[in-house]
Amino acid sequence: MFCTECGKKLKDGVCPNCESEKKVTLTVTRPKSMVGMAISFTVYVDGKDIGKLKNNTSLTCDVTVGEHTIIVKSLEKEVKQNILVKEDTNSVEAIVGIKMGLIAGRAVLKDVIYK
Ligand SMILES: [Zn+2]
Repeated sequence: MFCTECGKKLKDGVCPNCESEKKVTLTVTRPKSMVGMAISFTVYVDGKDIGKLKNNTSLTCDVTVGEHTIIVKSLEKEVKQNILVKEDTNSVEAIVGIKMGLIAGRAVLKDVIYK
């Protein structure tokens, strides 16, 4: 992998020449579902709120090479998932589903796809 700024070879996702870091797009997707349509989740990446995840929508943010934490919060429960972004990873997609509980819907992390 090479630096998008100056073209030098990256070391652990960071350019030794200009110190710019490789950015990888993380997409958190919630596919369309008839179940729990009105419920939205709050998504945190490394503790930062990146937005509300509604039915049939997705959220994106940039992450650097290394380990990151995704938290999807619903009323009843929160799910936590660690992801590891490698230097040759181009993008990461996390698929979130919903499972209905007695009172409210819970977020379920179905899959993490590294591309
Ligand atoms: Zn550079």
